[in-house]
Amino acid sequence: MRVIRFIQSDGFPDFLARLSRNNRVLAPVVKPAGKRSVVFEQWREGMPVILEKTTVPPKEAVLPQCETLFVCKKSKNPDNPEDVGMTLGTVPEDASTTLPTLIFACRSCDARGFAVLDRPFLKGPFADPYYKARRARLAVITLTCSTGCNTCFCHWVGGGPSSPEGSDVLMTEIEDGFVLQAMTPAGEALLESSNLADGKDIFPKAEAARKAAWASLLPAPDLKNAQQKVAAVFKNEQFWREHAAACLSCGACTYFCPACYCFNITDEGDAFEADGARRLRSWDNCMSSLFTREASGHNSRAQKAQRLRNRVSHKFSTYPENWGKFSCNGCGRCISNCPVHLDIRDVVVNALAVEDE
Ligand code: SF4
Ligand code: SF4
Repeated sequence: MRVIRFIQSDGFPDFLARLSRNNRVLAPVVKPAGKRSVVFEQWREGMPVILEKTTVPPKEAVLPQCETLFVCKKSKNPDNPEDVGMTLGTVPEDASTTLPTLIFACRSCDARGFAVLDRPFLKGPFADPYYKARRARLAVITLTCSTGCNTCFCHWVGGGPSSPEGSDVLMTEIEDGFVLQAMTPAGEALLESSNLADGKDIFPKAEAARKAAWASLLPAPDLKNAQQKVAAVFKNEQFWREHAAACLSCGACTYFCPACYCFNITDEGDAFEADGARRLRSWDNCMSSLFTREASGHNSRAQKAQRLRNRVSHKFSTYPENWGKFSCNGCGRCISNCPVHLDIRDVVVNALAVEDE
């Protein structure tokens, strides 16, 4: 059995203070705003942590909304037009020079989101060096859920309230406190270096709590044919038009998704000026009509039905074709944050129901 520890309910400030000595600890806090939201922020002494699922997933820890890939400066000799030089500067946000990041009280669906990102960014023919540097210095402590909510469907897509994928430590609430179970060598090291009490004797209580959480979920539809069925409706224009009818193309579903990773590359600044120019990578949104508009003006996905088809097909058909798993973790944020409540579950379930032609 891996390392198991116990922390009392009032022990988090000490625990987080200890973790913060060597890590940038991101913990869920309430963001004071017109509309209440819970976000991950760097924990500091006295900051009240709230153990709720966050409004925004912690994806930014490995894939920032906007990051500088490189800076460059150019020079030219006015007396000799062929004498042009270019120098590359250091990357300002070099992950290897900053503290490792530790996400505290992540949720299982969001931890599985890191596993979804790992495949294309680390396991393809080329590893993305920016992602790799951040991912290598990331640890995740996941708070297992005590039940689901009406937009959660993690158990439809291979996860569950205590799924360990993507987590270094699973933390489960029991009476008077929380049991922490290491799931990886990094998690073991983290718990061994803590001053928390041993939790092996009370681990059965955590197991019972996890079982009860699973038992509280509504039965899931069988998605074993989802990959083929979603692929089979790809050319069914009416199917996609009907499902996309209410969509506003706002992109909230993509920006709130822990498993979406489309990005755009842009250049800013003037390489001949003293500050130089920067190449930026920023999150992009495949639900926007601009996403596929080419310089010629041609747009391969000018209709919102084509864009919804792309998004759902990627998550339930093409990504699994490449990687063997869905690129949706059932967190439900695309449903709860969609202004017209477009429900990705309906799209998939309805695709399953379409008779093969
Ligand atoms: S959040 Fe809803 S309305 Fe906005 S792009 Fe996504 S599906 Fe369309
Ligand atoms: S597609 Fe929707 S439910 Fe699935 S991981 Fe993304 S936001 Fe969550």
